[in-house]
Amino acid sequence: MSDMWNERMRLIRFRRKHERSRFRDELRIIPRWLVWTCITVWLIGGTLGCIGNYYSMQHGGDYFPSPDLAGQPVLACLALAGVITAGAFVLSCLLFILGYVYRDAKRRGMNPVLWTLLVLLMSGPYTFIGLIVYLLIRDPLPYTCPQCAASVSARFIFCPTCKCNLRPACSHCQREVADTDKFCPYCGADLDPAKSQSAPPAGDSAS
Ligand SMILES: [Zn+2]
Ligand SMILES: [Zn+2]
Repeated sequence: MSDMWNERMRLIRFRRKHERSRFRDELRIIPRWLVWTCITVWLIGGTLGCIGNYYSMQHGGDYFPSPDLAGQPVLACLALAGVITAGAFVLSCLLFILGYVYRDAKRRGMNPVLWTLLVLLMSGPYTFIGLIVYLLIRDPLPYTCPQCAASVSARFIFCPTCKCNLRPACSHCQREVADTDKFCPYCGADLDPAKSQSAPPAGDSAS
């Protein structure tokens, strides 16, 4: 359990360190067909609603928003279009969030169906909590191996293509260290590559 937690925290640290996602680029992940479907449904719904409202007004039926607007079909139509647009906007936002989570989870190697369902279930009562939780704990994107440029998962320890060590470890105690650490946080060994590995003497790079 604690191992799973540590691995999760490591992945989160890794993602925050390596990913600088821009909102505009993230929006592109939302499927195009979903955006166009929402726009089409909104336009058709708005048009049919206004036509129905106008027809009802002309033939003495009930119409939106209230009988006070009798003889003012343009105002009634605008009021109805506004309500339909607001509803379509909220519903579209939810669908876009779900579309984003599905695609994003897929490209990160997470279970897309599971995560989309989780975000949907949490979106009802708690608004955007599901999305926020997802954004906080999602896995890092695959990145390129520093040695052979193959695409590797942040969960990998070795590159499956070239066997490059993707998680630098202390040469003394073999525990994993960050590539910014100067000393091993577990045993205190000097992690300077010039000293711990068979690199050329440090004097060569002195400036
Ligand atoms: Zn590699
Ligand atoms: Zn160590």
